Amino acid sequence: METKLLGGCAEDIAKAAELIKNGYVVGIPTETVYGLGADALNEQAVRAVFAAKDRPADNPLIVHIADFSDAEKYASYIPELARKLAEKFCPGPLTMIFPKKDIIPSVTSGGLDTVGIRVPSHEVMHRIIVESGCPIAAPSANLSGLPSPTCAEHVMDDMQGRIAAVLDGGSSEFGVESTVICFENEDTVRILRPGAVTREMLLEICGEVNIDPAVLKELENGETAASPGMKYIHYSPKANVVVVEGNTENFREFISRNNGENVYSLIYGSEEMDSDCKYMAYGETAEEQAHLLFQRLRELDEAEAKTVYVRPPSKEGIGLAVYNRLIRAAGFEVIRV
Ligand code: AMP
Ligand code: MG
Repeated sequence: METKLLGGCAEDIAKAAELIKNGYVVGIPTETVYGLGADALNEQAVRAVFAAKDRPADNPLIVHIADFSDAEKYASYIPELARKLAEKFCPGPLTMIFPKKDIIPSVTSGGLDTVGIRVPSHEVMHRIIVESGCPIAAPSANLSGLPSPTCAEHVMDDMQGRIAAVLDGGSSEFGVESTVICFENEDTVRILRPGAVTREMLLEICGEVNIDPAVLKELENGETAASPGMKYIHYSPKANVVVVEGNTENFREFISRNNGENVYSLIYGSEEMDSDCKYMAYGETAEEQAHLLFQRLRELDEAEAKTVYVRPPSKEGIGLAVYNRLIRAAGFEVIRV
């Protein structure tokens, strides 16, 4: 199949919407990362999404809707707290998990009896949902296990020949996937996956915000993940990624001892490295790091890096999301210097 590259004009948005309505899979822009969109109610179309990504069948897809009021069509129960959160954070990068109605096929929910629902704020994505008339199931548009795509070119790199089209809507605003939460009681939520709607922001509305243990550590044998995606190797480039914690001086000393032909480091924007070390920077603030992490991991593969030593972000705010992705890219390999 030839994968068409569409632009963001009205005609191309209409084409993307038409393709999705007719059961095809299209790479689509969102404010978090690019998604692989298909009609969430069409089992065959959803199967094609799993096939294009090589995604394990038990990893559920998030269902994207145009307005939170549509959530009633797909969720059998919506707690009052969810309505309050929706008022504040929808549209935006927040996915809420609800018990699902039967209309959501089991393939879409990865066999679970719940469904994750999100209202994206990206204007083009919003118009594709409205014009297709479909709730859109859309996981990140990378091959399973690879870093998520934050521009149309990344989607083309992974999906060329596997899907009908990719719509180029510019680079993703946030650069990390949505925050995924579930409801524990009437004023408590649990973060299953951190994102741009941070714990601090959720605490403005919720009495309590718990962080699922799988966010920051590797699951032990036999432990099950509340969010199935957290149990898989993820966000990994081909290079061996290692997180190195410690101050700049100790880090530089560590790099000079471990330098080699295909050794790179991924550092903060303000750090200076010795001239014989290969490095890339991924910004200074957690927001910049979120925006650049996946792009840099892809660039490091292009540069044929074999080992990448990475400076970790702070775990505050959106930094928690960056840290969560990074330790998975690193297969939980963290060194302190
Ligand atoms: P992605 O599609 O790549 O953004 O990944 C979606 C994430 O949301 C994965 O980590 C899924 O496991 C998680 N997710 C989606 N639906 C549910 C659900 N019903 N219950 C728990 N986690 C979910
Ligand atoms: Mg993903």
